[in-house]
Amino acid sequence: MGRVFLVELEGRSYRCRYCHSPLALADDVLSRSFNCSHGRAYLFNNAVNVSVGPAEERTMLSGLHTVSDVFCCCCGQILGWKYVTANDKSQKHKEGKFVLERWRIAEEITDEGNSDARLSLSDAENAQ
Ligand SMILES: [Zn+2]
Repeated sequence: MGRVFLVELEGRSYRCRYCHSPLALADDVLSRSFNCSHGRAYLFNNAVNVSVGPAEERTMLSGLHTVSDVFCCCCGQILGWKYVTANDKSQKHKEGKFVLERWRIAEEITDEGNSDARLSLSDAENAQ
């Protein structure tokens, strides 16, 4: 592995809760109403400084999707997942989008603190 070159983001951004690498722009939030087994999650149009695991089929609450786990490229913590393909037509808009779990990321400017942070030992995502 070579050096990690971090992409910097201009504007309000979300960062890794642990290593504070910038991950996604607040402007790229498509939905804040996602829920996964760990609580709230945000859907992003794009994410940076992440590495994506192998694609696998997973049954989510909204049906069968091909998804990849998304990890912070700096500290390696799992952040959420990326939709690779959606089998259901009504879910096609999610393809290529990133879901980052809210408690794994920190908003850069407004300090929400740890009020919604939740610890969980499971990485089951929202598989049924
Ligand atoms: Zn990190």
